[in-house]
Amino acid sequence: MKNPNENGIKMNPGEKVEQMTIPADSIMPKMHPGPEIKKMNPGPEIKKMSVGNANGMIQKKNDEKESRYALSISKFPWTGVIDTKGLSDVGFHKKPEPSDSKDDNIWPSLLNGDIVKVTDKTANNWLHITIKRGTKTISGYVDWRYVNLSHEANVPITETVTDAPAKYAKAWNRTFQWNSRFNLIFDSDSLIVSVRIFSTATEAVKEKWTKSIEDKWSKKFSLEAEMDSKKFNFNIIINVIWTDDKSESHQVVYPGKSTTNMENWGTSDAIDITHEFGHMLGNKEEYFTVNGVKHGASRQKGKAVMNNPAENPLPRHFNLVKSEAAKALGIHQDKCKIK
Ligand SMILES: [Zn+2]
Repeated sequence: MKNPNENGIKMNPGEKVEQMTIPADSIMPKMHPGPEIKKMNPGPEIKKMSVGNANGMIQKKNDEKESRYALSISKFPWTGVIDTKGLSDVGFHKKPEPSDSKDDNIWPSLLNGDIVKVTDKTANNWLHITIKRGTKTISGYVDWRYVNLSHEANVPITETVTDAPAKYAKAWNRTFQWNSRFNLIFDSDSLIVSVRIFSTATEAVKEKWTKSIEDKWSKKFSLEAEMDSKKFNFNIIINVIWTDDKSESHQVVYPGKSTTNMENWGTSDAIDITHEFGHMLGNKEEYFTVNGVKHGASRQKGKAVMNNPAENPLPRHFNLVKSEAAKALGIHQDKCKIK
């Protein structure tokens, strides 16, 4: 994003192309739908992600090798995403018991990113799940010590900007909407916030963007969640994932000459994109007047990243992560704090 300091360029997140009003002096690159995307693999039907019935709680899970915390489930059915913890696949069983026999296993096995509906759980760590493979719905069991269960957030964000100075008024005084989408995984003492982004930018550019974003947003704050009168702390890790499959991405970023909004990033920019990433986490602008809150001019020294991209985020910039984490844990968001 380009704060409106130089060219009167708009820097609004995620709006539809047809809604755009580009100022005459704009150097904003023309938005384009991008080249035809070749699907790398058909994979699970990720785009049919479902959010909203996630209810869980933290339970300590012990096995011989490790002692860790993971998202547990207290209400069924629960819909979430399988994270195989780095394994290429995990056994999907016909019965809730271990077996190496081909006859007892369902093939293909569970893959990272599979969306599951957990209908039930049995004793000894087995979850009864259903999963879609193409048009088929398959039911079976997974030993959940070998997976993390994760939560997909998809929250519409609306901001109405007023009070923009005359030079920017036409482009800025209006309402913008986009969806904040990300994935949450509770793993041991970390809360991993992943944003899957599709872009045709080169690997070198993506690597540089990743570093800028993670340096600014990752491992700076933690989530404290209170459950059963106990407090648990999770270091918030920001994980930018560049996906080759547009259909499974949370966001799409078009590379260009300069950063103009959440969807159009400059290939040599390492600063403004960190503000745009803030929009992906559900943050609004913090300049002019937004939803009735006065912020003043953009790019003020000492203000936070949503006002000035050169600055850092504050705890409140993780408020949507907090409320989605509370949803995933099945607790009220007042029981969660960002520290
Ligand atoms: Zn912005």
